Amino acid sequence: MTRDRTAVELIAIGDELLSGATIDTNAAYIALELEAIGLRVTRKSTVADAEDAIADALRSALERTGTVITTGGLGPTRDDVTRSAVARVFGRPLEFRQELWEALQRRWARRGPIPETNRVQAEVPAGGTVFPNPRGTAPGIAVADAKLGLCILLPGPPDELRALVREAVVPYLAERADASVRRPFRRYLRTAGIAESAIAQRVGSALDDLPVDVAFLPEIDGNDLRLTAWGSDESEVAGALDRAVERLREILGAHIYVEGTAELAEVVGAMLRERGLKLAVAESCTAGLIAKRLTDPPGASDYFWGGFVVYDDRAKIELLGVDEATLQLHGAVSEPVVRQMAEGARSRSGAEAAVAVTGIAGPAGGSAEKPVGTVWLAVAVGDEVAARGVHIPGARDAVRARAAQGALDLLRRVLLRGEGSRGVEGMINDH
Ligand code: AMP
Ligand code: MG
Repeated sequence: MTRDRTAVELIAIGDELLSGATIDTNAAYIALELEAIGLRVTRKSTVADAEDAIADALRSALERTGTVITTGGLGPTRDDVTRSAVARVFGRPLEFRQELWEALQRRWARRGPIPETNRVQAEVPAGGTVFPNPRGTAPGIAVADAKLGLCILLPGPPDELRALVREAVVPYLAERADASVRRPFRRYLRTAGIAESAIAQRVGSALDDLPVDVAFLPEIDGNDLRLTAWGSDESEVAGALDRAVERLREILGAHIYVEGTAELAEVVGAMLRERGLKLAVAESCTAGLIAKRLTDPPGASDYFWGGFVVYDDRAKIELLGVDEATLQLHGAVSEPVVRQMAEGARSRSGAEAAVAVTGIAGPAGGSAEKPVGTVWLAVAVGDEVAARGVHIPGARDAVRARAAQGALDLLRRVLLRGEGSRGVEGMINDH
């Protein structure tokens, strides 16, 4: 039988995965890491902590693909039976490895004498290759047989699994793989302020002549584009990817805030740092979300002064000096108020720049004139204030997340100059 040498099957082992108590995040991690070296996960199964069930699943997976990765069931307790199931399928006895036992004892030394029950963790199906696991007690094990194929056993705890996959399994499989195997090379572009359908329409057939796939990845607060080209080597596809990025930059202009995977707050933070500006925030409906995002990257004190959470009208008046008559005349969610909020945050902080947001996050509080999702944003830099009103669809969490994103994006565009008040079309994500 000729097999597709790039196909891999995964078997997740554990009663807790079947009951729903634990979500199988290991499979997603493994699949993504394998894809990067040109291997495809063609099937995943989940089985109980039962030797027969594991052996069954392993036998049929080996028949189909010949390369299998199991996760879980390598602990020291009676329900950890992956080793013995694999030994049975490969027709090999379990072999006690003195060096593994000694390593386990060293690990335990500080906690006292090691329980005898841990001895099973030093057992390996005869002839197996061990991948040491510095983060836990169960090592990874590879068992290979010319006829049956390859099975790699990995422990379940996600942090241990991830490190083993990255540091041992990927290099091991890459070494065995056919050098001509094609794998994906990717670029990412992140956009803000433009709807998915608007991007699709603008892009049209502009990339059709390039060997590059474009995937639209709508997020709650923006649309990301993932460009993929397949090749056996980066140099084969770099030119096509570069051209695709260049064309998208021409088509989408300032809607693209970064090439790569950085967050908008990081991009804006870097722009502030570069320009030597400090920023203050005045947040009503987002109540600190913008401040939180701006301070996620370390070193944010370079550009972040601090802020005002001004939920109640009194707070807007007392902390920012918003005019009471303006509030009464226009309401808290209005252009004049958001402008005064931005000005107040800037002048009271002494920072060079300020961003302000006020809106109706819902579910209550909307009216015919100002429905839920009505949000006003403003940015003050020096004496100039740019304001923008938007209608944001979605439930409370989405409105707040998109309002924060919209405020950061308005700030970015003001800093870029000239793009400050570019209509509301784009704020709305219509997927
Ligand atoms: P085990 O290797 O079976 O002793 O697994 C130890 C722990 O790892 C379990 O209690 C789970 O919390 C976690 N775990 C096992 N399998 C997975 C999986 N596929 N995805 C995420 N966590 C898992
Ligand atoms: Mg388990």
